[in-house]
Amino acid sequence: MVKQTPANRPIMGAEPEDIAKATTRLIQMRWGAGILVLVATAVCVHLLDLPLPAHVLYPVGVCILAYNAVLVWVARKIYSPQPDLYLQRLQRFVVLQVALDWVSMTVFLHLTGGVSSPAIPIYAIHMLSVTILLPSPSPYIYIALGVGALVVIAVLERMAILPHYTVIPVLPPDLQLDLIYTMAQIAFFTMAASAIVYLATLVMTRLREHDRQVTALLETTQTVSSTLSLPKVLERLAISAAKALATSRASIRLLDETGEHLHMAVAHGLSEEYQTKGLVDVSRSPLDQEALGGKVVIVKQTATDHRIQYPEQVLKEGIGSILVAPIIGRGRPLGVLRVYADQPNRFTAGDALFVLAIAQQGAVALENALAHETLQQADKERAQFVRTITHELRAPVSGAQSLLRVLLKLRKVKLNPQQRDILARVEARFDFLATLINDLLALAASKTAGFQTAPKPIDLQPILEDCIDQLAHEISEKQISMDYEVPDTKLTVCASAEGVAQIFSNLIGNAVKYTPPDGELTVHLTQQTGNAVITISDTGIGIPAKDLPHLWDEFFRASNARRSQIVGTGLGLSIVKRLVDSYGGMISVQSDEGKGTTFIVSLPITPIDEPATS
Ligand code: ADP
Repeated sequence: MVKQTPANRPIMGAEPEDIAKATTRLIQMRWGAGILVLVATAVCVHLLDLPLPAHVLYPVGVCILAYNAVLVWVARKIYSPQPDLYLQRLQRFVVLQVALDWVSMTVFLHLTGGVSSPAIPIYAIHMLSVTILLPSPSPYIYIALGVGALVVIAVLERMAILPHYTVIPVLPPDLQLDLIYTMAQIAFFTMAASAIVYLATLVMTRLREHDRQVTALLETTQTVSSTLSLPKVLERLAISAAKALATSRASIRLLDETGEHLHMAVAHGLSEEYQTKGLVDVSRSPLDQEALGGKVVIVKQTATDHRIQYPEQVLKEGIGSILVAPIIGRGRPLGVLRVYADQPNRFTAGDALFVLAIAQQGAVALENALAHETLQQADKERAQFVRTITHELRAPVSGAQSLLRVLLKLRKVKLNPQQRDILARVEARFDFLATLINDLLALAASKTAGFQTAPKPIDLQPILEDCIDQLAHEISEKQISMDYEVPDTKLTVCASAEGVAQIFSNLIGNAVKYTPPDGELTVHLTQQTGNAVITISDTGIGIPAKDLPHLWDEFFRASNARRSQIVGTGLGLSIVKRLVDSYGGMISVQSDEGKGTTFIVSLPITPIDEPATS
């Protein structure tokens, strides 16, 4: 499927916003023109006493102001949120404006002396404004229209079908009958108008090209610095390069590990068939060899260039010329950025420099993204390793725990207090080991997408209740008083039930664990502007202020917790943080050492249609 980019839309080569802005300016200028016609007529007729047909000129001025008012109203009506439709309407609107202006200018010119009118330059001014403001495929149409209008006036006046007004008293009254004068006027007007439009087009084309390139470069810089996702970076680079060179197709090919092949990493605007035409073998592609050597290569005519590895496919795809820029990382080539055009000889040396700049930016982004990907992969592998090891450890540890419990319960085995104490300590160590194994497994699962159950809409209340039930025994044993509040209405979030259970049991478990007997525990679940907010407060040992910033680090335990006899792995909060982040939520903590701690978790509420599960 060929993607459409703004650059290849079939309209004047500009975005709707640009045309809308330009039409606003035209409308503003037209207010000035209407007022000028009225004022100039008044001055010429009443102050300078010139023989102008004021009774027609005033209505012409009023007409210009009136139709401009209608155009203001139309401009407000034509907006559409669909860019293509909006663009189509804007185009028609532009044609309507230009046509109305042309009619009023022609009438004005006739009333002020036809080919001898001193107002002839207003055609040129209008042409200049339209060429500057509106990117048009053919500004020369305006010249043809202007010249055509002048010729029509001249012919009609010469044939006395229209009256001729002599506005400058020193000019002969039947000047319109002089063929040489008329032809000279029209010829000079044509030359002057052509020169004006040609120069204005040249300047405007350059300006628009620069504008497009600067925007593309800026966009590339922004994207490149805003994401570490390799596919996004590559896609953005390809789109920016195509957009900047006003083409619709670009691709990025990256070298594989062997450095011998270039595989398609991203293709923008190219057909499925072209994308899958196969690996590019660097040894058989002189074009890519040159580019990977650090040079920008321009294929001016694909039909006759022998450096292309798949010439038939290139021709079938309708590619006329190609620009290939190298993507060079720290001293080594990473791949190539290609921009394709339909026409031959489409790219210039300036284009080559520009695409090279984009490719250089891309190289930095690519290296960052690749490094990030490698780190993520390493993290995943580490998590996988931890998971395998802990799985292997789980069975023998729980086996040993059960054997120990059996041993301690056996009546036949007579143990002295010292032996009993040693066995109790062994049991505590095994308990810790079992907790550590469970925490490590949970940590590995929270780091690896494949190990987690996919998030779906779930109700929070039942999970919270389950968690409190499981801790009820410990809470009552420590005689902790609990203030528990949940809303009557269901609070549904998009998460995995196991994940949410982990979050609740870790936070409430910690609150119970780090609160001495007779303390207080508060668990509140509320709804706050689109979020489910769970507040867990305790009156326990608290956390020293200096330790708060490290609380979410793996294996971190606060200094007061380490000094106490309370056992812990330092993994629970890092698991909680990862899970909350993965559900798009937030977690915060407030604590006063010796007074207590409050954890606040907020998770975005999911609007659901189907019933949620717990
Ligand atoms: P642990 O297994 O050590 O409890 P966690 O990751 O759950 O590991 O917590 C990390 C550290 O944060 C704990 O060791 C403790 O120092 C501190 N902590 C967490 N929750 C509380 C709390 N409710 N009261 C006091 N300290 C807490």
